[in-house]
Amino acid sequence: MDGRSILRALNSAQAAAVEWCDGPELVMAGAGSGKTRVLASKIAYLIAEKKVPPNRILALTFTNKAAAEMLERVKSMVGGDLRGMQVSTFHSYGMRFLFRNASSMASLGYPSNFVIFDRGDCRNAAKKIARHLGLDAKGDDNRSLADRISRAYANCDPATLDPDIEERWRPAYDLYRDELKRQGALDFDDLMMMPLHILLNDRDALESERNRVEWTLVDECQDVNSPQYLLLKTLAGGSGRLMAVGDPDQSIYGWRGADMSLMMGFEDDFRGARVIVLDRNYRSTSNILAAANSVIRNNRERRDKNLWTDSAEGAPVRVTIENSDRDEYAFITDEIERLVLEDGYRYGDISILYRVNALSRGYEQALLERGIPYGIVRGVAFYDRREVKDVLSMLRLSANPRDAASLERIANIPARGLGPKGTARLALYLSKALGEPREIWGGMTANPPLKGKQGEGAAALAKTMLRVAEEESLGSAIDFILYNAGYEEYIRDAFPEDWEDRLQNVREMTSIMPDDGSAAEALAQAALFTDQDSMRFGDSHVSLMTLHAAKGLEFPVVFLAGLEDGIFPSERSLDEPGGLEEERRICYVGMTRAKERLYMSGVTRRVMFGEFRTFNLSRFISELSDSAGAVKIDDRTRLGASGQARVWRIPGKSRSSGWWSS
Ligand code: ATP
Ligand code: MG
Repeated sequence: MDGRSILRALNSAQAAAVEWCDGPELVMAGAGSGKTRVLASKIAYLIAEKKVPPNRILALTFTNKAAAEMLERVKSMVGGDLRGMQVSTFHSYGMRFLFRNASSMASLGYPSNFVIFDRGDCRNAAKKIARHLGLDAKGDDNRSLADRISRAYANCDPATLDPDIEERWRPAYDLYRDELKRQGALDFDDLMMMPLHILLNDRDALESERNRVEWTLVDECQDVNSPQYLLLKTLAGGSGRLMAVGDPDQSIYGWRGADMSLMMGFEDDFRGARVIVLDRNYRSTSNILAAANSVIRNNRERRDKNLWTDSAEGAPVRVTIENSDRDEYAFITDEIERLVLEDGYRYGDISILYRVNALSRGYEQALLERGIPYGIVRGVAFYDRREVKDVLSMLRLSANPRDAASLERIANIPARGLGPKGTARLALYLSKALGEPREIWGGMTANPPLKGKQGEGAAALAKTMLRVAEEESLGSAIDFILYNAGYEEYIRDAFPEDWEDRLQNVREMTSIMPDDGSAAEALAQAALFTDQDSMRFGDSHVSLMTLHAAKGLEFPVVFLAGLEDGIFPSERSLDEPGGLEEERRICYVGMTRAKERLYMSGVTRRVMFGEFRTFNLSRFISELSDSAGAVKIDDRTRLGASGQARVWRIPGKSRSSGWWSS
């Protein structure tokens, strides 16, 4: 496609956003207005029309899946060779940057084959430190030390990068940093902070990165936190070749330090910036849009937008209130069968969205009983799966003998007589060992640093690590671990029911690891994958996922389930400043995923964590009242059926249940 045809597929405001390439640009627009489409078109336009080499374009998104989709969209527009074009998450960009800048890393005291600690590894490290200092990490706010450290980063001082941490946690914080460094490890936050540190302190590194990245584009920029925003400023501050797109009404990662006021300050931070507003929604029927608008309108902290659509009214948004979760399951599964049999939808058109993973089981079970095929996105890091993590730990340790977290995990898998004490001594030995990994493992095979049975175990471990390090590719290293180092047998014994699935998960690792870059880089990349990234349900499965995982996606049919106060909005959110408004934005994100049919359901009694609990309906349901014409409500609770007026308990106001019956 040439520049012209790229623009022709857009409306005039969208085309203007794509065509203008003379400075920083912010597209601030509502859900389904084509932000992501504009971003992809801009990349295509830069390549096709402005002849920007693909490898000088950096596009940043929030999930690997979104990155993969973006790349596909651009490919379909410009075809050809996009090699070297970086479409990635912030984390993944940071990680690659650090591998490229190995010498800067070395001067900061990190090995070139550093490893990434996932949340579990970090929590373990933090726990040990808290114990060592005799700290009760859980303060009044019941946060873990790892959580505190992570927040301190996300809320750092943008000028100095100083973490925002209370004095009494400072020693723990410092020890934590030292401990990770000692193990040659970085945590997820480091993947943003270290590149910033290097870029801000090393003019050459900054210069060369600015040469590499001519254009920076970022999707979902309402969810950037301070360090991420600072990165954008640092990379694009000079040239102004930056496009950011986002929707403040969809900012849903406040708990991770996302700060939508950053986006609001864009015009001040980037001189000469142009702000473009898109107000036409292409995704949803007008009923769905009206209902979504009537909910989000209740937020105080927002700029009002006037999102409109040319699409048909469509079916009314259906709200169903049931007596119990069982009834809700029956309603949803009946309706799915009806949609498929009578209305011509495919299972793949349908999704069920909920606020928390804990709710997924019920829906899953109900679909299973009806024989409806489904796929579920648990949002679990792929890396967190037991078997994947074991094998990755072996690969990691073989490449970086200082990685004590991995050593602890797999020293005795499969059993080789290495107990906790022996393992601790081994870790100490390895933290001081000098030389290349292969030399270290070779030396340890010949002269294990432990005696007796433990010594035999250490030698056996070292031998395995040496062989893994000598394999030519990650694939063959994984095969070696499975079939020659006894892991297949181990997993069969440990998980007789599902060892085959687990084996499959390990094999899948090779397919998701990038094949460019070094083995250390591929391993680091693996830490950033979640099962969301391998979501490929296609046409044949109903998709189940949390509302957070659904951001940016769209489905012809959406069931937004579990609308009960305490679940959605969540109990915790009600105690936090701005918490309720963030929950409302999450609700808005969920509703605006729907293209043609939107169902919303809540119950008065639900089994949660094994016990029956009674609920008030979510206040978001009562907020639909403003769009009464677009919404149809079935109240099937006994109270409703008896004709008694029901009062929703909504703080500050109470309302009889009659508002929708007209
Ligand atoms: P979200 O806020 O959910 O991220 P978005 O603003 O990124 O949404 P897109 O996903 O880019 O919106 O677009 C929503 C839908 O509208 C997509 O199916 C897209 O193809 C379609 N669309 C956007 N612009 C146009 C257009 N000019 N003509 C036809 N369809 C369009
Ligand atoms: Mg989008």
